Amino acid sequence: MGGSGSGWPSPGRPNLTSDAVEIIEEQGHRNVIIIMADALGADYLYQYRKSASIEGVLAVNFDFLTREGVKISDCLGARPPHTETGIARMFFGRDIILDHTQEPFLQIERLVQDSSQDHLLKLAVQHNKFVFNLLPRSDSAWLTQINIPRQKRLDILLWESWKDQSNLLTNHSLEFKIEPNFPHLRKLKDQIKHSYPTDISQTPFVQLKNLSQWVHNTSLTVIKHLLKTEADGIFAFIHDPTLEFLGHWCGEQAYREGIIWTDEYLGRLIAQLREQGVYDNTLILLTADHGMTFRTKDQLGNHGDFYSRPEVKYVPFIFNKKVPISNVITSHASTLEVAKSWLENLEK
Ligand SMILES: [Zn+2]
Repeated sequence: MGGSGSGWPSPGRPNLTSDAVEIIEEQGHRNVIIIMADALGADYLYQYRKSASIEGVLAVNFDFLTREGVKISDCLGARPPHTETGIARMFFGRDIILDHTQEPFLQIERLVQDSSQDHLLKLAVQHNKFVFNLLPRSDSAWLTQINIPRQKRLDILLWESWKDQSNLLTNHSLEFKIEPNFPHLRKLKDQIKHSYPTDISQTPFVQLKNLSQWVHNTSLTVIKHLLKTEADGIFAFIHDPTLEFLGHWCGEQAYREGIIWTDEYLGRLIAQLREQGVYDNTLILLTADHGMTFRTKDQLGNHGDFYSRPEVKYVPFIFNKKVPISNVITSHASTLEVAKSWLENLEK
C-alpha cells in the first residue's frame, strides 16, 4: 500500500523512499510496542544526531537498535512540546493545537470523543490486537477516554495529585481498567499493585529510581504475559516518565543517569522478546514527546528559549526493522509519522 491512500492526514511526512515503506510492509509485524520516553532529547543520546550540541550519554541498547533497525536523525517532537499534545499527535497523526487559556485535558477529550477520527487504538482493534497502555502520568491518562468497541484492553494508570507536591510516590493513585474482565489478568493486577513503591523515607532520587523500575518491570511483566496468551498479537504503548521526573526534580546528572536506566530497559525488552521467540515479528518503536535542556533558567516554562533549543526540539525515533537503503534517515520527520507510516501494516 506504500503507506499512502488512507484517510489519515499526515502533514510533515518524511521524504522516505517508497522502498523503505514497502519493505517494512512486506515484513509485517504481529506485535507493536511503542515506548514514549518522556523528555528524552535526541541530542542526549551518544552519536544520535551529528549536530548534537551537547555530549550524549553512551547508551548501548539504543545504539544496538539503531544498527539493527532504522533511526530518523532529524525527528521533531511536539511544538510546543507539551506531553499531552506530543502523545495526541502520535495517536491521531496530526498536529493538535491547544488553546492555552483552556484546560488541555478537556480539549483533548473532545477530540478523542469524536468517533470519526482515525487513531492508533482504532487501528489496533481493527487488527484484533490486545491493547495495553501503561500511563504513569496525568499527561497521558486521557488515552483511557478513547473508547473502542470490541476491545481487548488493559490500561494501567497513575494519577498525580499535585496537592501534595512534597511527596513523589504517595501523591499518585493507581488505577486499572481491564476490558472485558480477564480472570487471568487479576493475579497479574494484584502483583503489580503490591510492587508499587511507597517508601517515602528515601531521597527524591531514590524514590524516582524505584518508580522508574516499577514502570519498567510492570511493562515487561505485562508484555511477557500477553505475548503468551494473545494469539492475535498485542499493541502496547508505554509512557516512560523516568526522564521527565528526574530532569525536573533532580537535575542534569540524574537525568543523564536516567538515560542509562531507560537504555537498560530497552535491552531487557529486546532480550525478553528474543527469549519468547517473537522479536522478529514485533515492531519496537522508540520515541519521545520532547527533549530536555539544562541550559536555561526556564526549565519548566512555556517561553524563553526552552522550546527552540535543539536538545528539546529533536527527539529520537528508532525502530527495529531494516530497510535496504540505509539505516539512517536524515530527511526531516516528526512524531506524526508514528501513526501513518508504520502502524498501517499490522498482521492480522
Ligand atoms: Zn513530557
